[in-house]
Amino acid sequence: MRFPVPGPILEAINRLNDGGHEAYLVGGCVRDDYLGIRPNDYDICTSAYPEQTKACFSNEKTIDTGIRHGTLTVLLDGNSIEITTFRTDGPYLDRRRPDHVFFTLSLAEDLERRDFTMNAMAWHPSSGIVDLFGGREDCDNKLIRCVGSPAKRFNEDALRILRALRFASVLDFAIESYALAAMDERKSSVKRVSIERITTELNLLLTGLNPAGVIRQCPRILFEVLPLLEPMYHCPQRSVFHCYDLWEHTLHALKDTPPDLSVRWAALLHDVGKPDAITYDADGTTHFRGHQAISTRIAGKILTELKQPTAVIKEITQLVKYHDERIGPDNLQQWLCKLGQPLFGKLMLLQRADMGSHAPHVAVKVKDIDALAERAQEMARSGACLSLSDLAVDGRLLVEHGFSSGPFLGETLQYLLQRVISGFEKNDREALLSLAVKRLSEHRQGRH
Ligand code: ATP
Ligand code: MG
Repeated sequence: MRFPVPGPILEAINRLNDGGHEAYLVGGCVRDDYLGIRPNDYDICTSAYPEQTKACFSNEKTIDTGIRHGTLTVLLDGNSIEITTFRTDGPYLDRRRPDHVFFTLSLAEDLERRDFTMNAMAWHPSSGIVDLFGGREDCDNKLIRCVGSPAKRFNEDALRILRALRFASVLDFAIESYALAAMDERKSSVKRVSIERITTELNLLLTGLNPAGVIRQCPRILFEVLPLLEPMYHCPQRSVFHCYDLWEHTLHALKDTPPDLSVRWAALLHDVGKPDAITYDADGTTHFRGHQAISTRIAGKILTELKQPTAVIKEITQLVKYHDERIGPDNLQQWLCKLGQPLFGKLMLLQRADMGSHAPHVAVKVKDIDALAERAQEMARSGACLSLSDLAVDGRLLVEHGFSSGPFLGETLQYLLQRVISGFEKNDREALLSLAVKRLSEHRQGRH
């Protein structure tokens, strides 16, 4: 292995070996290490049956994580380590999970049930890599290939179709052509996958190295899980501003965003309302008036159905809502204040990707967005007043000067903030205080 295997993991393998059992690292950690990616977790497979595994760790706490499928978690030196008995899968009756599993003493049989050649490699500290299906060669060729017949493997478990797309994007690998054809033929079966797993796979796909390329290659599979996207496919954009149809524009925008989950989702969904908003001039020119609000509504529906966390839905729908807002030096501070620095930064990333995916004479405006984003960062660095906490006066000071706590105090602070942000007042303690006191006396005279 290129990366040092953590001590407790090696210790667990040794313990199983000392108990007379075979034990290996397996799956994602062997693949990632071979590819030069630091593994994020290590899975162990063993010939020991779960009870025998427990006997090897009699002084440690073990948890029956997935005992029916042979998986135990062992707590060793503060690390939780998953150890799974070699197994083969029983019949797949629901195109998703084996009805039952059989334990086996054969590593080869265990590797054979795994989905892709790159995921079917094992490693042992003394004998090194076990690669029975050409996983290393496929990794070298950046190829996702099924272990065995693609038709059979995708028939067994529809989740593998989404995993193939996910790995293709995350690793920037191609999908071997027979596998691709088999996936396409069985695409409708992906609806059998639980919504939580669909969401996990889509999130990983979107934050990978090549989401746009993968989606361009397999749009119909994506439409099985996100049918509301389908009207975007081949939707025309005939105007001087555009050089791509809506689908290609969307994929270009997606490609030009950095791998931030919200920005990537927003790039995919920013124009999803356009097909509903489309109108044509007599000469065939297209318009999409009001598409921003429709996109926002559809994006919210899609993300809610996917059970994305509320905060994530809020962030993505705000990005979609404001993707077309023209922000310039004049209203920059208002927008920074409205969205806060982190979301504003994400909006700039989305806007630059969107702008850059227009016709060349529009795409050049990307440089204006970059300049604006730079200016926003400078403002934040230089401590510009962007929120109530930046204001030179606070509620306590106003109370000391005659205000009582309540709605009018809050309104006054907001009023002062707006005056400062819009440039009518300096963020100066004395000036703001006298403005507030004046406002209070007018309030008492019934003028507010
Ligand atoms: P990562 O953890 O980076 O998401 P992984 O390949 O480790 O990727 P896991 O879900 O952790 O994915 O699964 C561990 C291993 O189990 C895989 O490498 C693969 O060998 C096998 N595996 C997982 N899901 C399936 C499946 N649906 N069909 C067949 N084998 C699978
Ligand atoms: Mg894993």
